[in-house]
Amino acid sequence: MIPYGKQEITQADIDAVVEVLNSDFLTQGPKVPLFEHTVATKVGAKHALSTNSATSALHIACLALGLGKGDWLWTTPITFVASANCGLYCGAQVDFVDIDPRTYNLCPKALATKLEVAECEGRLPKVLVAVHLCGQPCDMAAIHVLAQRYGFKVIEDASHAIGGKYQGEYIGNGRYSDITVFSFHPVKIITTAEGGMALTNDDQLAEKMKLYRNHGVTREPQLMTHEPDGPWYYQQIELGYNYRMTELQAALGISQMERLDSFVAHRHQLARRYDELLQNLPVITPWQQPDSYSGLHLYVVRLHGKTHRQVFEQLREQGVGVNLHYIPVHTQPYYQNMGFKQGDYPQAEQYYSEAISLPMYQGLTDEQQDEVIQVLNAVLEKATA
Ligand SMILES: *Cc1c(COP(=O)(O)O)cnc(C)c1O
Repeated sequence: MIPYGKQEITQADIDAVVEVLNSDFLTQGPKVPLFEHTVATKVGAKHALSTNSATSALHIACLALGLGKGDWLWTTPITFVASANCGLYCGAQVDFVDIDPRTYNLCPKALATKLEVAECEGRLPKVLVAVHLCGQPCDMAAIHVLAQRYGFKVIEDASHAIGGKYQGEYIGNGRYSDITVFSFHPVKIITTAEGGMALTNDDQLAEKMKLYRNHGVTREPQLMTHEPDGPWYYQQIELGYNYRMTELQAALGISQMERLDSFVAHRHQLARRYDELLQNLPVITPWQQPDSYSGLHLYVVRLHGKTHRQVFEQLREQGVGVNLHYIPVHTQPYYQNMGFKQGDYPQAEQYYSEAISLPMYQGLTDEQQDEVIQVLNAVLEKATA
């Protein structure tokens, strides 16, 4: 089976991890801050905090922004559930904004309309999670204008987008947001096995996220309620978690970061090839925003509704490991129990009925890509015959 996504591990990656195993620190050593420094410097952010997953990073980002009971978090329905769940972890309520049918990202026009209504009803969101689906950045400039106008905070869920650029600058520099989150799960662009990171330019947000990542415990005297009792002393001043990344993960991350630009360039090469090879097939290929350089975590094509499931099943039967990103979050049973219904977000639901993620990863060869096209072609011909 050709998978839809897969990590690339080189001997250099393996050596980096083994070196840590032979060192004094498996956790809380020098590799984690070095990894954070590497990513922060690369993307142009002041602070970077690594975590044991992007889900944890989203959670501490929401906590640092003060999200809590009585607040609203808004996001897109076309995302992984974690982009919405982070709001629920904090006791806030979650709502969704429908997608733009061309970019598949949260639609800034739909956002503007929803904000107008919410302002009248006195239920404006405190936090918006903007997800860069497939690695293509959201219209951050438009979102930023709305954030200023209505006073909400913005988290970029850039789990798909490390190495991508918006308006010529690396995603993660926080020009239009408060916090950016990356994921290092093995299917994503670079990996640390499990792992994530939260980046910000705000000193206070960074300080808070650092606390929430580590039990709410501090060793810094200026944050304590009184002078330290002695050199052993620490204080718990918040309710935090253990969301720390290990040294093994950080070492793998540092090693992978050396290939970030070439990973993303290769994904673009694969995407250009797909664009060409799919030209005469009855599918809609991804539209790329002109002022951005996608991380291209995913290559999603759209079919026409009724044959979707059949095409999907046959591709898998014939060894092409396609996937679907994503099932609209509001249609998940857990969210339906909160009152969301089928029909709430028509663009998202239409997208779901047509989308297929084709294989896209560093090690995908031209031959494998040709095979994907060949199988897809045969399956589509049969489906429309
Ligand atoms: C993968 C992913 C996450 C969660 O990442 P983990 O590192 O697995 O916790 C969150 N949001 C999006 C959009 C993702 O694709």
